[in-house]
Amino acid sequence: MTDKTAPEERSRDASREPLNDMEDGSVPASLPTADPAETLSRLLNGYQATQALHVAARLGIVDVLQDGPKTAQVLADRVGAHEPSLRRFLGFLTTLGLLTHDSEGHFAATPVGALLRADHPESERPWALLLGAPPIWQPWGELYEAVVSGRPAFERVYGERFFTYLGHNPEQAALFNAAMSSDSANVADILDAYDFSGSHTIVDVGGGRGALLRGILERAPQAKGILFDLPAVLAEAEAGLEAREVVLTGKCERVGGDMFQSVPAGGDVYVLKRIVHDWSDAEAIQILRNCRQAMSDQGKLLLIEQVRQPATQAGPATATDLMMLVLVTGRERTEEEFRGLLAAAGFGLARVIPVGWRSIIEGVCV
Ligand code: SAH
Repeated sequence: MTDKTAPEERSRDASREPLNDMEDGSVPASLPTADPAETLSRLLNGYQATQALHVAARLGIVDVLQDGPKTAQVLADRVGAHEPSLRRFLGFLTTLGLLTHDSEGHFAATPVGALLRADHPESERPWALLLGAPPIWQPWGELYEAVVSGRPAFERVYGERFFTYLGHNPEQAALFNAAMSSDSANVADILDAYDFSGSHTIVDVGGGRGALLRGILERAPQAKGILFDLPAVLAEAEAGLEAREVVLTGKCERVGGDMFQSVPAGGDVYVLKRIVHDWSDAEAIQILRNCRQAMSDQGKLLLIEQVRQPATQAGPATATDLMMLVLVTGRERTEEEFRGLLAAAGFGLARVIPVGWRSIIEGVCV
C-alpha cells in the first residue's frame, strides 16, 4: 500500500490512544458502563465488532462515503454487495458508531468511521484488514487451547510458525506488512525522542517495508541505513516502497537474511522495533547476541517496545501480550525482564525513554 501523505500529516499525537488491541492493548468494548449486564453483553459480542470493521474496510464503505452521504442502494452498487444484506450491515455499523444515517436513509461516516478510509492520514484500515483476516482471526478461536497448553494457538491451527506461514502466503503477508508499516510511518514522536545525529550506519533488524528506517534517515541525513528482514519480505512486490526514495539515493541498502543466523555487520545503531516481543527469552537472546556480534564495542542497541508495568497485571500491554500468546512464542516484558535479556546478550540497559504508550530501550555494549 503506497503512502501518499506528507510526513507531517502522518505524525500523530503521542498522547492519543491507538485504536486496536494489537497496537497498544486498548479495548474500547471494555470501557465500564453503569450497567454490569450491558457491559458484559458488549464484551460478549466483541467478536462482531472486529469482523464488522474488517468487512467495512474490505468493502471500502467509508471510502465511497467520502464524497457525501449515500443510500444503501447506491452503496451496494458502488461496493458490489447484496443490497438487503448490506442494508442490515450498515445498520450494525451505525450501532457501532462508525456511521450515521438521516431520515431519508442516507449514510455518512462519523469521525471514528472515517479512520477506516484508505487515504486518511491516520488510517487504521490496514489494521482492520489484518485483525479480521484468517491468520489472526482463526487462532483467536483457539485461545482456550493456548491458555491451557501455553503453546501458540497459531501453530495449532496452521501447523507451522507464524512467520513461516507468512513466508509462503504472500497475500496474508502483505496485510501483515502493511499494518506494521502503517504503524512505523506514524512514529514521529519516537524518532524525535532519540538523537541519531551522531550515527553513521543504522541497521533496522526486522524492519519490514522500511517505513521506520526512512523516518530515521530523514532525521539523520549524514547516516546510511541497512534494512534487514526475511528475503520474502524484502522481495514482496510492494516491499521497500516506503524506503524507496532512500534506496534509490543510495542512502539505504536492503539485505535479506535470517536474524537467528546473523545480522548485517558494521552498524553503529541497531534498531529492533516490535521484534523482541515476538520471541521467547531464548530466541530473543539469540537475536540480540547476533546484534552484539555484528557491532563494534561503541555500538548502540535500540529496542522499541511496550514496557509492561511490574506492579500490576492490568494495563495496555496485556492485550498485545495475549496476541503474542495466540500467535507466537513472545510476550510483553517489564523493564527488569528487558534488562535480563540484554545482560544475557552482552548489553547493559543504559536508559528507557518512554514515548506515549511505548518506549525506546537503549542497550550499550558491556
Ligand atoms: N519492525 C517492523 C516490523 C515488525 S513485525 C515494525 O515495527 O513495523 C516483525 C518483523 O520481523 C517482520 O517484518 C518479519 O518479517 C521479521 N522477521 C521475522 N522473522 C525473522 C527472521 N528470522 N529474520 C529476519 N526478520 C524476521
